[in-house]
Amino acid sequence: MMPAVRSTSLPVPSCKILKLLSPRLRNLRTLANSTSSTVRYRSPSSLPARPFTHIRSRPIVTFVHSFVSGLFFSTAPSQMGHDNTSYPMQKNEQEWQAILTPQQFRVLREKGTERPFTGEYDHHHAKGVYHCAGCNAPLYQSSTKFDSGCGWPAFFDAIPGSIKIFEDRSLGMVRTEMVCANCGGHLGHIFKGEGYKTPTDERHCVNSISLKFKEGDS
Ligand SMILES: [Zn+2]
Repeated sequence: MMPAVRSTSLPVPSCKILKLLSPRLRNLRTLANSTSSTVRYRSPSSLPARPFTHIRSRPIVTFVHSFVSGLFFSTAPSQMGHDNTSYPMQKNEQEWQAILTPQQFRVLREKGTERPFTGEYDHHHAKGVYHCAGCNAPLYQSSTKFDSGCGWPAFFDAIPGSIKIFEDRSLGMVRTEMVCANCGGHLGHIFKGEGYKTPTDERHCVNSISLKFKEGDS
């Protein structure tokens, strides 16, 4: 269990935060691997440097939250409370398992989180639209994608009406979860007010595995 993290600003870039956390993360990796063979943490040595002034005032807490969630490839059964029968596309568990890979099922239907810096679309810059990997509904335009440096694809806004949001109290935190409005598939979390110079100052932190990119104008 991670200690409580206070919402405070630290005058260090995110890359340095990762290095400062690395001993503790190694311990967490050991713990995680003892319970799941799928969990591994790889040091993000390729993390691109970002301007110091850009993030110096950004609260560390949301970054740590999203990073820790990635460590555990977590599932949160207690957060499955919202009504999955309200979405236009309805499939039972067996039907979802038949069309999704085990990794997609773990994230989309069981609210898992892929490991940071491993997703197909983390550093993906082609023009087009990112669709739901479960139901093919269009979710994000490439024109809203930006490089957050946090290890997952980040968007500052979704296509209107394409997502639904819920309060997620798993892992001892309060986060905003987003799901596909068409099938209820788990996409990731939304973080606000981090200081990114985007039109909304929101970071829609989306699992690559929840998305399917289609090239085109966007
Ligand atoms: Zn969907």
